[in-house]
Amino acid sequence: MAYLCNLYIVIDEEMDVTDNRINGFIDQIMDLDLSDNDLSTCIVGANICELNKTICGKCCKCGAWVSDQQNVDSIDGFSDGCCIDGKWWCDLCLQENHPKHF
Ligand SMILES: [Zn+2]
Repeated sequence: MAYLCNLYIVIDEEMDVTDNRINGFIDQIMDLDLSDNDLSTCIVGANICELNKTICGKCCKCGAWVSDQQNVDSIDGFSDGCCIDGKWWCDLCLQENHPKHF
């Protein structure tokens, strides 16, 4: 059996990144010891793209990255959310009477 593991990393220029946390994180992933499960890992591809902020954004309340999952161009791996009056909301932070509230 083989598994495909998708890993999503957002590099946010608004973050105060003063160290090399992203490379450190990737190193940790590559160093995972899965030998107890008789699994081996290899990276078969990587892709970096600029986020289209018309289809995703950070929740104005909790800061989670969200995308409108009903939009055909939504971003896989992001939580569901929506943009209201220019502000993004995740499904957890939306008002309870909103249809997307979770
Ligand atoms: Zn939220």
